[in-house]
Amino acid sequence: MSKKNVYMDHGATTPVRQEALEAMLPFFTELYGNPSSLHAQGRDVRKAFEEARRITAASLGAEPDEIYFTSGGTESNNIALRGAAKKQGSGHIITSSIEHHAVLDVCKDLEKQGFTVTYLPVDQFGLVSLEDVEASIKPDTFMISVMAANNEVGTVQPVSEIGELAAKHGILFHTDAVQVVGQIPLNLKELNVDFLSLSAHKFNGPKGIGALYKRKGVKIDPLYHGGGQERKLRPGTENVPGVVGLSKALELAVGELPQKADALEKLRDRLIEGLMEIDDVLLNGHREKRLPGNINVSFQYIEGESVLLSLDLQGVAASSGSACSSGSLDPSHVLSAIGLDHQTAHGSIRFSLGRGNTVEDIDYVLDIMPPIVERLRQMSPVRKEGG
Ligand SMILES: *Cc1c(COP(=O)(O)O)cnc(C)c1O
Repeated sequence: MSKKNVYMDHGATTPVRQEALEAMLPFFTELYGNPSSLHAQGRDVRKAFEEARRITAASLGAEPDEIYFTSGGTESNNIALRGAAKKQGSGHIITSSIEHHAVLDVCKDLEKQGFTVTYLPVDQFGLVSLEDVEASIKPDTFMISVMAANNEVGTVQPVSEIGELAAKHGILFHTDAVQVVGQIPLNLKELNVDFLSLSAHKFNGPKGIGALYKRKGVKIDPLYHGGGQERKLRPGTENVPGVVGLSKALELAVGELPQKADALEKLRDRLIEGLMEIDDVLLNGHREKRLPGNINVSFQYIEGESVLLSLDLQGVAASSGSACSSGSLDPSHVLSAIGLDHQTAHGSIRFSLGRGNTVEDIDYVLDIMPPIVERLRQMSPVRKEGG
């Protein structure tokens, strides 16, 4: 079989789509003015910039003045959580134990500053329970932050219900929706959130640009001070090409939903079903409440990293569920939280599908996978007797 190039790591990042790239290009060349400048060069750019904000807001069901452009998901999460904490001064935060590090590590840092944090457990499918959320609320709880969908195992949380609960108790609610925006239809008019983080490079926009939605009237303190841009919440000369690219990519991604999500789900389910035919493979995450492009499986008795390298040799880009950032042997906090033992967690792989993936890609992976698993299991010291 001839080697193919198959990119199945869209959860890590996506290629910039042509339309977004083309929309951005003039803002590197002839449209270089500073949007804050009063001359014609500045005014033209300001007009385009505010049009991009309008498109971004409309794509999410928000108002333009509820959108703040940032450098990405990490910064949006930091501005929401730290900004609320700074305004509050002290108190309690509720989050989940499976958040991205851009929420989890912010919470850990806030603990060092004297805030208290509850890290909610999740069930075996990665779901947060509403009862747990409610039971964790204390008199001084000022913020709940639960991700809209998990980047590793793809579980989609009951965001609207959690938001309703937060509102009932007068608590702010933030959701890291970086994996959801452009993947699942979403309307901020119906979603009960005060803050929502998104990042362009996860929906075929450029890297280094994102946005924070902040509901009108909600007040937080800025983390940075400077020229007062983004209504003083995120000062600094605007990344105009980035914002234009984000808005173009978002508008197109949202316009293609829900057909795109349906198509991705079909590919996802084909891959899941094919992989489950291999012996001793477990599906991680929830079967239905799952991102349309996410597949996370554990291959028993072998290392996810070895599978990853074998796939890479055959042109397939996926990621290891046990990705240990520092080369440490700790399995991912997400896989541990859903109850996987070390060995199973270390045997896990995430395939994340996106724009451009085809049935042929899925079938290619399904063709090369069984021999890879077979070969690695033959070498495996922990392979079960007779297995
Ligand atoms: C990618 C990702 C982030 C980080 O976004 P950046 O734009 O890369 O900073 C945060 N949260 C989740 C769930 C993500 O998948």
